[in-house]
Amino acid sequence: MDEFELISRYFDRRRNVAGVVEGIGDDGAVLVPGSNKQQVQVIDTLVEGVHFPDTADPADIAYRAVAVNLSDIAAMGANPRWMTLALTIDKADERWLKSFSDGLFSAADEHDLALVGGDTTRGPATIVTVAISGEVDEGKALLRRGAKHGDGIYVTGTLGDAAAGLRLLQRGAKDEFLLRRFLRPTARVLTGRALVGRASAAIDLSDGLLGDISKLLAASQVGAEIDIDRLPLSPAVRENFDADEQVRLAMTGGDDYELCFTADEDSVSEIPDVTRIGAITESAGLICRRQGEIVELNDSGYRHFR
Ligand code: ADP
Ligand code: MG
Repeated sequence: MDEFELISRYFDRRRNVAGVVEGIGDDGAVLVPGSNKQQVQVIDTLVEGVHFPDTADPADIAYRAVAVNLSDIAAMGANPRWMTLALTIDKADERWLKSFSDGLFSAADEHDLALVGGDTTRGPATIVTVAISGEVDEGKALLRRGAKHGDGIYVTGTLGDAAAGLRLLQRGAKDEFLLRRFLRPTARVLTGRALVGRASAAIDLSDGLLGDISKLLAASQVGAEIDIDRLPLSPAVRENFDADEQVRLAMTGGDDYELCFTADEDSVSEIPDVTRIGAITESAGLICRRQGEIVELNDSGYRHFR
């Protein structure tokens, strides 16, 4: 199977997609941008041995490569439209490619996202780069800057699940729900779009709440108070970890791909599946409270401050 057969067999699932004048097959894709839209462009790379083991299920690798990009698109409040894929593999294994392609399209099809081109190369390890472009109404993209004193701080879904799933695996245990939260992250695309015109700032949670919210606060030049007791935890996290570890997972566990955003309470009261976890303060710095008491958090967890 040569490169062109490989592309046509596994990646050229041409459909009549709105806005795609020329998709896979020519030197470049020809796309029609929506009128009065701005384009949001994101890209992410997954490297074998760094982001996934060589034994990983190819469908999961592909799903994840799309989902992490969709999560960035969601955090911008954009509607994902077009995707390109740069794939490096050491050999053309048909079973691997079939599974990879199925995982890729299962993530893409959930959002009507079209694969419009890419690049396929041979190399010493599997490297998957996905780029997605999305669209948002002019001037409406959700940014990290924009949080204001008095805004509430909200997160979608539950926190710490992905890290919890990994940790259980390392202990030789397994929880299907938690593992799936790691392997198949759900990008909050619909929530992101619903937040346009409502949220004052947003970021997606890839590195853990503590680190990621700090980026939002720095960009907005504000501080925050977070109420640890309000962090949304899944039943699986509550069952498998003690209280301190639950907090550590929720605050510092990565790979959740939930959204964190700020808004005044009235403008987001209708948004489903979000939890208010704190508020933006005028003075810089992040304060976390547990049962009213200030606790100090660092990357390895938290300890009592006083
Ligand atoms: P070129 O040599 O002009 O860069 P290629 O021969 O590499 O083009 O690719 C042929 C066509 O297949 C192009 O339209 C390209 O976008 C597409 N393509 C290549 N690899 C992939 C891939 N992994 N997934 C999707 N489309 C791909
Ligand atoms: Mg060319």
